[in-house]
Amino acid sequence: MHPANHIWHPYTRFSFLRDEPLPVVASAEGSWLTLADGARVFDGISSWWCVNLGHRRPELVEALARRAGQLDHSILGHLAHPPALELASRLAHLMPTPDRHVMFGSDGSAAVEAALKIAVQYFHNIGQPGRTGFVTLREPYHGDTLGAVSVGYMEGFHRAFKPLLFPTYPASVPGASDGGESMEEVLRLRGNSIAAVIVEPLLQGTAGMRIHSPEALRRMADLCREAGALFICDEIATGFYRTGSRFAFEQAGIDPDIVLMGKGLTGGVFPLSAAVVRDDIYRTFTDIGDADCTFWHGHTYTGHPVGCAVALAALDVYDRVDAPALARRASEIFREELAPLARRPDVLDVRVLGMAAAVELRDLDPARMARLRRTCLQAGLYLRPLGSVVYLFPPLTTEEQDLRWACSVLREAVANGAV
Ligand code: PMP
Repeated sequence: MHPANHIWHPYTRFSFLRDEPLPVVASAEGSWLTLADGARVFDGISSWWCVNLGHRRPELVEALARRAGQLDHSILGHLAHPPALELASRLAHLMPTPDRHVMFGSDGSAAVEAALKIAVQYFHNIGQPGRTGFVTLREPYHGDTLGAVSVGYMEGFHRAFKPLLFPTYPASVPGASDGGESMEEVLRLRGNSIAAVIVEPLLQGTAGMRIHSPEALRRMADLCREAGALFICDEIATGFYRTGSRFAFEQAGIDPDIVLMGKGLTGGVFPLSAAVVRDDIYRTFTDIGDADCTFWHGHTYTGHPVGCAVALAALDVYDRVDAPALARRASEIFREELAPLARRPDVLDVRVLGMAAAVELRDLDPARMARLRRTCLQAGLYLRPLGSVVYLFPPLTTEEQDLRWACSVLREAVANGAV
């Protein structure tokens, strides 16, 4: 076996591995990766949507080194440590109602699993054990562990696991005319068996950077409340200014029962995720009384001190760099630079929200997309198209000239027939 083949590459086809050796990243700085052969490549997707503040942001690297030199790891079971204490309080105070409790995890999927279990056990705790169902949007994505796959089933990715999944009820975004069952109908028919509605607020990333309005999000939250279910906002991809505000849900003026964070929480410097849960939900997980309602849940690295320290540093940097202004500036640049593509007959749509821009082609042609990916990489731009959608999701701190350059590479790759 070739030594390079011992890695099982995530989301990478065998055929791709056969065709060409994968580029090896040796180092990174800001919005740029440096390959082992010295070539520089622009990180057009913020290394899977998390490096919001650029690579090796000094404050974050410093926080990591400082904390690792002081406290490498210590669990949160029957113990606490300063970075987790401070971070839980800071995250709670980022919510409209700060009486909240934080269950930490490592990857985003761990936060999703925790939220699903919290929702189901909450109803169990309060004597409604029949509420075990979940309502989702259409083409949802919430991660790759089995609970997350149940609420984020995608035929192309998850077909083999279908027999293992619990049933969920996909619903259309309010106001969307996609021919499917509306959220209103789904909740009217099954409302009292539903534990929670879980959504990617404003931006459905994996579905192809699909955008819905703050009004639609608000309507979902209202419908969910009327049905007596919990409203879970999965802000793992949208959180930390990707859609322009710190959290996407803020634009809808709502107060979700559970908010999930990951990715940008640490700017990609350390794996950390969080489920931020309302106090009245938390309080039902008590063993003081007749029943033991303790939440028997946790991971080895739940609330890792190094991750918490990096997240605290990241929260400061987001404030210091005026992240909403950076996202606004990027939106303007994306609109200016990519709008001309919308006039092409082979382009179905160009859409922009905050620090994300997507160009959707009319036809789904995997070979064209593979060519596009290669052409962009040769020009120094790393992208990962989603179906017929090619998108930019760069760090918030990307220089204006680099943003314009990335847009021009993408524009030319579409225009010169690379796709
Ligand atoms: N939720 C959303 C909305 C995501 O986009 C992702 C990852 N792309 C996840 C959950 C899962 O996060 P992770 O890959 O860190 O497990």
